[in-house]
Amino acid sequence: MAGAAQKCDFCFDRLEKGLPPYCAQTCLTSAIMFGDFDDPRSEVSQALSSGRFFYRPREELGTKPSTYYLA
Ligand code: SF4
Repeated sequence: MAGAAQKCDFCFDRLEKGLPPYCAQTCLTSAIMFGDFDDPRSEVSQALSSGRFFYRPREELGTKPSTYYLA
């Protein structure tokens, strides 16, 4: 894919198979979580509702980023 920007695609090929992204699966300290914010039972929804929310990168640009940093 010469001449094209490449970036994280949330391991779409793995998600199609019901597998988590590589980075979330291999992170030994669970520093990276992945899931469905719309599912209140998901690990990411529970983490966000825990009050640990810290930062959402470049939210002010209005691009609705799906990445959250927790403190
Ligand atoms: S391993 Fe993580 S950072 Fe890399 S493409 Fe997959 S989801 Fe994105």
